[in-house]
Amino acid sequence: MRIKVDYVFINENLELIENACIDISSSSIINIESNCKDVGDIYFPSSIALPPLCNAHIHILDNALVEYGEDQKLSNLVSLPYGKKYELLKKLSKDTILKSIKEVLTEALNNGVLFLGALLEFGDEGVQYLRKIESLSPIIKIFPQPPPEQWNNVDAYIEILKKYKSIGMDTLLTLNWDELKLLDHVAREVNGVIKAHVSETLNLFNKRDFERLSLLTKVLLVHGTYITSDVYEQYIKVRNIPWILCLRSNYYHSRYVPDINLIQAHYKHNFPIAIGTDNSSWFTPSVLDEISFAYTIYRVMTNDRKLLAYLLLYASTIGCYKTLGIGYHGLEVGAPPIMLILQNPVFNYSHNITISLVKRGYSSEKILIAGEEIIPLPSTQMYKSKELRNILSKLSFLSFHKVN
Ligand SMILES: [Zn+2]
Repeated sequence: MRIKVDYVFINENLELIENACIDISSSSIINIESNCKDVGDIYFPSSIALPPLCNAHIHILDNALVEYGEDQKLSNLVSLPYGKKYELLKKLSKDTILKSIKEVLTEALNNGVLFLGALLEFGDEGVQYLRKIESLSPIIKIFPQPPPEQWNNVDAYIEILKKYKSIGMDTLLTLNWDELKLLDHVAREVNGVIKAHVSETLNLFNKRDFERLSLLTKVLLVHGTYITSDVYEQYIKVRNIPWILCLRSNYYHSRYVPDINLIQAHYKHNFPIAIGTDNSSWFTPSVLDEISFAYTIYRVMTNDRKLLAYLLLYASTIGCYKTLGIGYHGLEVGAPPIMLILQNPVFNYSHNITISLVKRGYSSEKILIAGEEIIPLPSTQMYKSKELRNILSKLSFLSFHKVN
């Protein structure tokens, strides 16, 4: 099948080419040609093609608690061990939680998100929910977090890390220095990775939670809302730590977002940056929703708006794959035959197509190409697609064998 699009972002560096014809078989991308003269088998007018989207940080269990606790402080709602969230989740039936997890995963797929990094509350119990999902799902890298009653028990953390080679931490302050050192030792032994919320609130920053990053070999930093340039230089830059941004969440809870200059520096150093949507109780799992907000809020904080848009596209795709350890490098010859196509008449008038994608992608028509199948989103056609299922299992095999 030969498709034609107006724009496509190709290869690991997301190079933008125009009037492209892409030859696809059911097993791989065979050829990508810029400025092609023919219209292929199918032409998508006013279109941009890009690699499938990736959401590096999402809490999927709390989709069953939408808009809870609107009048309360974040720490009262989510902090271990007494956060309201845990109490409310315990009151829900397992069937309700499972149903709501399936729904948020469907919403992710319908928005072109094929890769997720999910923090799972309640340890093994959280993981069990995912084991029960038999229908099509995005590829999920799990980060189980110990149950609330074991929130400061280092043995529970070690057990999870050994079992799953990954762990999610509410905050690095939960364990003391020696316990964290021990956890890092285990992480190195099992080639595991620790995902941690860092300096999400001013209170945690003032408690200097970031200092503990120096103990950890493989860590993914979530938030960094209050990180300053001094802290960045001393604790983050020197360690090449992947940085996951959840800007809607930060702004929603504190009217504050991470320093754009540090994010741009991180990007220029070629360190991984990823987008996350955080709690599904408050935010949609759509990466396109997230980056539209991110562009709007960061625009006046930087003079280099083209760089900002490119950075956000990178963080939604290639940067997120690197952060989660996915062995997939975007749209290139030989790659699995999958891509997202966005269509919007205004793309015809755009003076900067990357900025238009980032700002308007969420409200554009979305189409998933899976091998030789063309799947409009949202649609139940997705669930019937054998090609999509095959490609996802192939991508799943490529994923999570190594984490940078
Ligand atoms: Zn989170």
